[in-house]
Amino acid sequence: MTSARPPGRVWAHVGQPFTPGTDPQAPYDVLIIGAGRMGSALALALTEHAPHLKTLLVEEGGLPNEDGATILAPGICTTAHLPESQHDAARWTLERLRALLGDDLQPRPYLILLDQPGPSTQPTRDLLGAHPQSLALLDPEVLPHARAHEAHTYRPGTLAQVAAQSAIRRGTDLLLNTRATPHPGGRVTLERLTVTNTHQVVTHETHTLHAPRIVLATGAHAPAQAEHHLGVHTRHARAYRQTPHLAAPSTEDAPVLHARGLTLRPQHGAYTLIPPIHHRDPHGYAPQGGHLTGVPTGLRRETLEDLVGLMDALPALATSDLHLGRSRADIPGAWLALPHGQPDATPTHDRLDDHTHLLLGGPHADTLGLWTADELAREITGGSRQ
Ligand code: ADP
Repeated sequence: MTSARPPGRVWAHVGQPFTPGTDPQAPYDVLIIGAGRMGSALALALTEHAPHLKTLLVEEGGLPNEDGATILAPGICTTAHLPESQHDAARWTLERLRALLGDDLQPRPYLILLDQPGPSTQPTRDLLGAHPQSLALLDPEVLPHARAHEAHTYRPGTLAQVAAQSAIRRGTDLLLNTRATPHPGGRVTLERLTVTNTHQVVTHETHTLHAPRIVLATGAHAPAQAEHHLGVHTRHARAYRQTPHLAAPSTEDAPVLHARGLTLRPQHGAYTLIPPIHHRDPHGYAPQGGHLTGVPTGLRRETLEDLVGLMDALPALATSDLHLGRSRADIPGAWLALPHGQPDATPTHDRLDDHTHLLLGGPHADTLGLWTADELAREITGGSRQ
């Protein structure tokens, strides 16, 4: 497929005047709010399904935004936790990741560690025979059985960048450091943000655009934005997920380990822990650190409890290798969208009104996000293919 357009433009800062297209009121066919991996993937998919549509991708921060869910997502693509009905979409996503990331996509074993034998389990000691450093993390008496799956690991932040850059090469425009607010009737206000010399973020200028299609791809912010700005109530929710560091050594080919909902992802020669999400966080929840035997930690209480409960099975968690932090700022964490308010729901898209769609990634975005973005691109394109 060849692009019908010259490359798109990028406005990174307020010093570059924003001069969209020839029609100042409605210069774009599609306006995507949020350039995390979901918004960026949608922008790219639209250039492929409908190269005649002119798209603007708007992002409040940079690419990728340091505060978004994308940059801290585990980046593990695996069907290990998906029902058979989702496997085709996962395989499609994997092919697409291969095409976009090349060597940045790394195959790795993925082991689910169990206390009981089950279908296709093998002894943990056998499966980890070639990985003594992995075996040293756990107690094989407590987790004697394991099931091996395939996984591919990658950096979701790189995916967002590659997808957005490919979309720009095919004609998509990108407006960074700009907060977008959707309104009913296909109207969007854009506040171009700048930082004063006293480090305050302020609005430099405001623009109003109209577009026939608007997509809210703002991750965990999307449900509240739909409600506040469009008056559309959804059942989607969000949860604050922290991903603490475990300073135990890992090699390039170390398997991803998964035990009782906790995932240990080998990364940068050590491990990133991805704790289970049990439920949505209540409206108004402000992330805060917990206490372990009276000592303040940066880890939230629910995650601490999960890790303490796993210390028998994974003794490495009971050592000083686990970074508990002293306050929340010490532990990487991000708000994650929960489609339908469910911790195990797959990525989804909804129609909010005549003009606006919602695109949500959430906990399974690593494995299914690209598929769902492509599905929405096909829906938007439906009937308007060239
Ligand atoms: P996802 O995995 O769904 O892409 P992210 O949280 O990584 O989720 O991405 C959502 C992006 O949307 C973030 O980069 C965030 O900065 C951006 N965003 C959120 N609200 C707005 C807004 N009002 N205007 C522009 N960008 C926004």
